[in-house]
Amino acid sequence: MTGFVFNEKPIQIERGEGAYLYDDSGREYLDMGASYACVPLGHNHPAVGEAVRDQFSDLTYVQASYPVQTRTDLYELLADTAPADVDYTWLCNSGTEANEAALKFARSATGNSKIIATMQGFHGRTMGALATTWKDKYKKPYEPLIGDVEFVPYDDPAAMSEAVDDETAAVIVEPVQGEGGINPASKEFLQTARVETATSGAALIFDEVQTGMGRTGSLWASEWTDVVPDIITSAKGLGNGFPIGATLCREWIAENYGSHASTFSGGATVSAAAEATVSTIVEEDLSGHAADVGAYLQERLAEELGDDVREVRGEGLMIGIEIKRGANRVLKELALNHGVLALPAGRTVVRLLPPLAIEEDHADEVVEALAAVLTEDES
Ligand SMILES: *Cc1c(COP(=O)(O)O)cnc(C)c1O
Repeated sequence: MTGFVFNEKPIQIERGEGAYLYDDSGREYLDMGASYACVPLGHNHPAVGEAVRDQFSDLTYVQASYPVQTRTDLYELLADTAPADVDYTWLCNSGTEANEAALKFARSATGNSKIIATMQGFHGRTMGALATTWKDKYKKPYEPLIGDVEFVPYDDPAAMSEAVDDETAAVIVEPVQGEGGINPASKEFLQTARVETATSGAALIFDEVQTGMGRTGSLWASEWTDVVPDIITSAKGLGNGFPIGATLCREWIAENYGSHASTFSGGATVSAAAEATVSTIVEEDLSGHAADVGAYLQERLAEELGDDVREVRGEGLMIGIEIKRGANRVLKELALNHGVLALPAGRTVVRLLPPLAIEEDHADEVVEALAAVLTEDES
């Protein structure tokens, strides 16, 4: 192998449809990971395919300084569906770039440099976003990263109050930590971050790269947390598999964002993919559906797995199952013996981020497969 692809799986995927993937021998897999939440509508969704084919045949790409209709439509759709006042969008190509822009915008708009991030948080792997990511393993080989970053314990309102001061440019936080183990924050923690940043003039950044696009039961997690941040970042689910990221912000940030750009920002074809993805989630109320099926799935997991697991937690269809052994072997058995694909979140957590339109039957299937694997392991 000559390319850089890590942890290559022993399954070659050739085709996808809805919640299912098919390998080169025709075997079917129920995809409960959606490739890290990147396909909220399921694989090969017709609305995205049609939007992309239509745009591609007229114009694939033109430099960002020419307006294109699909990008304008996407800006408007995001402004209409984002929380009040978070109306301005900057487009890029990935989650880490969306966070990179968020940090730059916050420093520029506030004139401060200090950034507060959370322990166990994950915000991406470029030098700026990486500096706000918790895990040393990801950071050590590349230091020094950007400076003036301070970490507070996740979900600790007192520590957050203590950390934010007049020198603070931004607080960056995931409403539910993904990579860190599927840890939902209390409303109190996020509301404390809101009050403290508003008081000190700092920007509150919600990293919704994983929680966004309907995943946690509303289009944006900020809806159920009752917190409107200054900046929201998005990427993973935004283009249903097409590479696009977005940094949404309020006017006071947009007015003083400094000087920032990216050659591929809001390309015509990826913008068409994202516009089709977001409008389908909204029109079909897939976030409401994710809330219902997610509650059912969490309940069934807790019921059926009982004492075989430490905890089942999450919001909507962002679910973590903390097990009593390493997650990787369980995931391998789930895939090879039961045809169910899921993800890890740290060493001992099985992470489920399925397409939002899964039904209770799919939920039952994953519950049965997990129950079988966890009991097999015990014998
Ligand atoms: C995946 C992820 C990122 C990084 O996104 P990339 O597209 O891989 O750069 C940032 N923040 C969160 C919360 C993520 O889950």
